[in-house]
Amino acid sequence: METKNSGFNTKLVHAGDYEDCLGSAVMPIYQTSTFKFRNSKHGADLFAGKEPGYIYTRIGNPTINSLEDKLAELENGYRGIAVASGMAAVTTVYMALLGQGLHVITTDAMYGPSRGVLERDFSRFGVEADFVDTSDIEQIKKVIKPNTKLLYIETPTNPTIAITDIKAVCELAHKNNILVCVDNTFCSPYLQKPLDLGADIVLHSITKFINGHADIVGGAIIAKDPEVYKRLRQTMVYMGGNMDPHQAYMVSRGVKTLSLRMEKSEQSARVIAEWLENHSKVEWVKYPGLKSHPQHELAKKQMSGFGAMISFGLKGGFKAGEILMDNVKLCLLAVSLGGVETLIQHPASMTHAGLSKEAREEAGISDGLVRFSVGIEDCDDIITDLENALKLI
Ligand SMILES: *Cc1c(COP(=O)(O)O)cnc(C)c1O
Repeated sequence: METKNSGFNTKLVHAGDYEDCLGSAVMPIYQTSTFKFRNSKHGADLFAGKEPGYIYTRIGNPTINSLEDKLAELENGYRGIAVASGMAAVTTVYMALLGQGLHVITTDAMYGPSRGVLERDFSRFGVEADFVDTSDIEQIKKVIKPNTKLLYIETPTNPTIAITDIKAVCELAHKNNILVCVDNTFCSPYLQKPLDLGADIVLHSITKFINGHADIVGGAIIAKDPEVYKRLRQTMVYMGGNMDPHQAYMVSRGVKTLSLRMEKSEQSARVIAEWLENHSKVEWVKYPGLKSHPQHELAKKQMSGFGAMISFGLKGGFKAGEILMDNVKLCLLAVSLGGVETLIQHPASMTHAGLSKEAREEAGISDGLVRFSVGIEDCDDIITDLENALKLI
């Protein structure tokens, strides 16, 4: 079915639909590494791009392409590229667009490995990087150089929930011939459409909200412009970070309920954020939907909702964090986010334990900070679970 002019929910279910000779209702798993040519001319025509068709799964596969088409429609992009993980999406973008002597500017408090791979690996190939608080556009202006090729932003950030004005930074970047890539993992296209706000590329860890069931690791890149898309696709095919057909099938199934899941999680997140804000053991709460969030107005403007991610600070610091982690029963003590199950995490003792206290504080991660990903369980049960554990602090 043609879904270009359909609503978001119809796209979730039907975009990327595909007709096969058996009338399959859903895209089957084409678990094959390679595809037969009818004859030598057919093989030659496929390689020359004179005829559409499949050659080899790293280059393209119907199950994977169906998912790519769906994601591209959901983000209002030209075409999509599905890859093995969110980090494969990040590194494909860096690899395709950066090089010796070129410069990238990114959000300082971005997903750790997205920054780490620039500092540790791309630096070895002569790529320069500046990490700034992109929620303050003046800080970006200060570090733009003639060799800046890419502005890479994450909004809201993890776990500090800072918001960057996508439209404003895209205008600034484009005036300086800089491409903009937005990591849209925290929002998913249900809440935020960076390409509509001016970005050139959007990427996802589809491990999180898009797949939504904590059973698959995957990533995707969607480009607005055919030329940029071609560069990214070529790099992915050569670097070999492609998704697997079985993985693509799982994601195609998971994403169909994105709106239903996000709506439910978000309703609960709003209630839980307010409840936490009034709790005696809680010092502060960061949630874009709260009036107390410094960028609440910007969130209302560029997001169509406030999402399911909450950060909060416990009055009792590090020890209180450990007590909460050890006493929740419904909330799963685990990293990752965006699944149907509620997840809780204490960065100071877990994801960021490798950093010194000073480095953590510089990154906005206080000892009592808790990161919370709200699932689709009954909201009352989540609150009861938190209350029972908070009582012990
Ligand atoms: C998880 C995550 C990634 C990395 O994705 P993987 O699927 O784990 O490789 C990148 N960006 C953000 C914002 C994430 O949350």
